[in-house]
Amino acid sequence: MDLAVTNATVVTLDGDGLGIVDDGTIAVDGHRIEYVGPASGFDGAPDRVLDAEGCIVLPGLVDAHRHSGHALLRGGAQDLPEIEWMTDGLGPIARHATTADRIAGTRLAVAESLLSGVTTFGEYASEVGSLIEEVYEPLGLRVVAIETINEVVDDREERGPDEPYAFDRSKGENALDRAEALFENYGEHPLVTPAYGPQAVDMVSPELLRTVGERAGEHGRDFHVHVAQGERERRQIEARYGADESTVTVLAEEDLLGERLVAIHCHDATAGERKRIADAGARFVGCPSSIGAIDGVVPPLTEFLDHGAVVAVGTDQAPGPGGHDFFRELRTASLLSKTDATDPTAMPAWETLQRGTVGGARALGLGDAVGTLAEGTPADFVVVDLDVPNLAPAVSEPLHTAVPNLVFSGGSRGLRDVFVAGARVVADGSIQGMDVEAVVAEAQERAERVFDEAAVDWRAADSTLVSRADEGWL
Ligand SMILES: [Zn+2]
Repeated sequence: MDLAVTNATVVTLDGDGLGIVDDGTIAVDGHRIEYVGPASGFDGAPDRVLDAEGCIVLPGLVDAHRHSGHALLRGGAQDLPEIEWMTDGLGPIARHATTADRIAGTRLAVAESLLSGVTTFGEYASEVGSLIEEVYEPLGLRVVAIETINEVVDDREERGPDEPYAFDRSKGENALDRAEALFENYGEHPLVTPAYGPQAVDMVSPELLRTVGERAGEHGRDFHVHVAQGERERRQIEARYGADESTVTVLAEEDLLGERLVAIHCHDATAGERKRIADAGARFVGCPSSIGAIDGVVPPLTEFLDHGAVVAVGTDQAPGPGGHDFFRELRTASLLSKTDATDPTAMPAWETLQRGTVGGARALGLGDAVGTLAEGTPADFVVVDLDVPNLAPAVSEPLHTAVPNLVFSGGSRGLRDVFVAGARVVADGSIQGMDVEAVVAEAQERAERVFDEAAVDWRAADSTLVSRADEGWL
């Protein structure tokens, strides 16, 4: 036995309630958990002991949906109308980011997430393999690698919102080939699980949607789709398929509405359509900060829970909502759900923590492996020191206050250790194998270049932010 973490309050999320164990021990042998439970039941002889007095141990958090590379463009597109966000706000800048820039942005975003307890990442990107090779594998993190498949030609900003985007079929075929290469290269990898990422129904031809659905069904693979993202998408679908069609009807017609679908967002679907998605067995990921910032909308997390769906949370992207701190995302998920429902009992702390752990794992198709702490499962867990100003005090009688404290007041402060498959990837708050200062400095340098190179295009796109900047607000 390699290691035992002792003297901790352990939250297993296994069994009834949160599975809170006072004076708990978690022991690791190799990649797996050998023991988790009360100290009194542990009689192993570990090589190392990590004293976690005053700490809480919980399953590694699962950020089920994100585009980490955009972290380089943090602050570049927010406070503008939804119809402008992608095409006129972020797009003109993002087009100037190279693969190397996206790798640097991913490193930055991953650092932010690791320091807020994320061990499993739903990474959605074009050429996602480069991010796996350069960032995730060297750090030893668990990742679902979703290859973005998008066929929209690059001149789309010159078209009106009611004119269907022109498609470049070879662009889609190349992306599909990259996805297949991922399955080839990482099919048996212990930490990397590939998936298809047809970006959205308005951005991929029906022919390619069908191909993805067929292959996914044939080989038992998942596909993650941004579903019903808002007015821009709705107008595109109506322009291409007709006024009576919607993203959900097209998904159904192309035979994609089923258990292999991981549906992201869904806020612009009707209530009936959302039930239809859930009834089809699709999993749902809501990204409250992102959708709050871009759309001014609360994602339908509680609605999908009411329908009995698997529900998870994602940070999505940094430009707009600002970042990838997952404790902040959980707080946002809970608070927005409460205000949206005008019900303070909506999305309580325990439910929110479940969404950020076991819910995320199930949404990513990893529910049998991670998201809970149990004997025999991979040792993915985090140790948070509760003796810090934003988390203290924590009591265990007559109720445990540590979990609400974490969900409503957690952050990188207090984050002590992170383990993925038994490896200590954060030790005493320090990311192993990463010079965070150098990562930040590189991101700064690259961001200055990207924004500078994009300046002419950004002005030409003439989003609301251009005049705001000229007026001195930005
Ligand atoms: Zn997304």
